Amino acid sequence: MTLADARRAAAAQLAEAGYTSAPLEADLVVGAVTGLDRARLIAWSEQPLSSAQQVQLEQLVSRRLQGEPVAHLLGLREFWSLELRVGPATLIPRPETETLVEHALAALPERSPLWIADLGTGSGAIAVALAHERRHWMLLGVELSDAALAIAADNKAHLGLSNLALIRGDWSAAFAPSGLDAILANPPYVPQHDPHLSQGDLRFEPRSALAAGTDGLAAIRMILADALRCLRPGGLLALEHGWDQANAVRALLSEHKLTEITTVRDLAGHERVTSGRAPGG
Ligand code: GLN
Repeated sequence: MTLADARRAAAAQLAEAGYTSAPLEADLVVGAVTGLDRARLIAWSEQPLSSAQQVQLEQLVSRRLQGEPVAHLLGLREFWSLELRVGPATLIPRPETETLVEHALAALPERSPLWIADLGTGSGAIAVALAHERRHWMLLGVELSDAALAIAADNKAHLGLSNLALIRGDWSAAFAPSGLDAILANPPYVPQHDPHLSQGDLRFEPRSALAAGTDGLAAIRMILADALRCLRPGGLLALEHGWDQANAVRALLSEHKLTEITTVRDLAGHERVTSGRAPGG
């Protein structure tokens, strides 16, 4: 079996099962067993797979056919052009979360030595991307789950980020008053009875990273309840939320007296990130 045959066969099986990104997923899986990127898979299409590689490929395709996310099969997911380690203990980083990274980069001064918390950091995606972009900033990734912290630590280590500290804790409880220049979070925000939670990749991700009370806003309320204590005056709070939650999140921020409340859209055009500033800046 050549690389071309393997890609074609895997794509056909995945397409047959209804996966809309079957050709891309097939290349990711064939790439994982051969260690080749897409360009090499194409350039070396007549190279044969070893029999061990063929067995491994069959196993990965059959796990995918059972519904397991591609990111879990590979143990990797690209975020902000960085290759992140991921696993069942964390949310799989999503492209819309890059909107939050972009917003923080735009809203905060590049050359200041800022202290920035990423609450519920999971795989560390947001904190890792910002620590990578801004060597003057100190990123503090907070996470309650030890298993998730281990993944974040792995990402910190393999990207060599000395300006990222990982802290076991419950939202912002670990922080002293007024010590933070910014608080960022992609908290759980799916309503707990949303049928999407039992569909697709979401079935394989931690419920605690996805679902937040009957209206999906429970975690955002908890973060807001302590954020102003931790932020310095004028400090930034920026939260990811569901496409239909922007109005509710803006109202919560204004109830807590934040100023300069702004919502930004993701690449799909959905209102995805809302931010405000702590009063008195
Ligand atoms: N955007 C995710 C989804 O609906 C949810 C992520 C989250 O709750 N933080 O698939």
